[in-house]
Amino acid sequence: MESITYNLLRGQSSDQYYQDISTFTDYTIQLLAGFQGVIKSFRDLSGQRGTEDSDLEYGLELLTIGILWQVYGPFACREADSSFPQQEKLHFRVQFQSSNLKQLLKWLLGTGEFTETTKRLQAWAAFLSAQAAVFQERILKEVSEVAARFTTQGKLALGVYTKNVASFLEVHLPAHLGKEDYVFCGRREEEYHLNMVGAEIMNRAFQSSFLLSKRKAVLIPICLRQPKTNCQMQECSQGEYHCRGCSEACPVNKVTSLGEEDNFQVVIIPHESMVFAGNNAASVFQNTGVVGVACVTTLLENGWKAKALGIPVQCVPLDYSGCKSHWHSGISTNLNLKELSRILDI
Ligand code: SF4
Repeated sequence: MESITYNLLRGQSSDQYYQDISTFTDYTIQLLAGFQGVIKSFRDLSGQRGTEDSDLEYGLELLTIGILWQVYGPFACREADSSFPQQEKLHFRVQFQSSNLKQLLKWLLGTGEFTETTKRLQAWAAFLSAQAAVFQERILKEVSEVAARFTTQGKLALGVYTKNVASFLEVHLPAHLGKEDYVFCGRREEEYHLNMVGAEIMNRAFQSSFLLSKRKAVLIPICLRQPKTNCQMQECSQGEYHCRGCSEACPVNKVTSLGEEDNFQVVIIPHESMVFAGNNAASVFQNTGVVGVACVTTLLENGWKAKALGIPVQCVPLDYSGCKSHWHSGISTNLNLKELSRILDI
């Protein structure tokens, strides 16, 4: 099987990945425990947001700040040129301070890829800018150090699943220059690891509210189907698709059959941008726990989008990426049905 950037399979299955991500998430949670003091101060000063989220989520946000600063900070804070030459070596340094954090968030928002992430991180930028300079400096230094350790240890623990990312960036990303998906396809290896751990942290944080939901739905991307030329899928109303079960081996068919047996709805999503899209997403999924099956790089953004809409969400990453819209070829993707069943508690 051709692997484009990441691939969770070891041999025929991704079972080992789920053990590895669980272990590395435990390590990351220990790393984030050092943020307890600043999280308490943030909670005390942040009004409503101080009570509705767990320390785990806040720790994940601080880690996200550190990783995004590491990857994009210097580009975002260059005054004259905000273009993003992914492969350029950074020969300049920009001091990580709260005014630069605000500039980073503005730049990320402008890419269109980090809308929900940015919304959450803006509260941290506001909190930090209200603090004394010495406190800001200390916290941002700690955030940078934690991000650096996460990057090093993530490479050791999860690098086996993302070993094609660097060559994709070098060989194929230049062809995306000037295209809408340049930032989407240009994610660095540590961003893949951040999304993997972020999805696991969210799964743990939101598990109880998900399991308590009256109804369950699984959102699956259209790239899970068998090659388009053979697929008999029909569009039954605008944007809604019906699998006709033409192939027993097709992952869409397997998830659909599981949904019929175990009473959950299956929604086929034609494009990633349509996940929780539209003003009525919150009412469509009212009282519904939703499992999002998606490409690794979209997990964090979509998880926070669901959280903002009040939807109890869980994530299952695709075993590998493959849709033709973004990657250099179109291949049918897959998911770990054992993990999906575990998440759904069936
Ligand atoms: S089983 Fe469903 S999704 Fe898969 S190829 Fe057939 S119609 Fe398409």
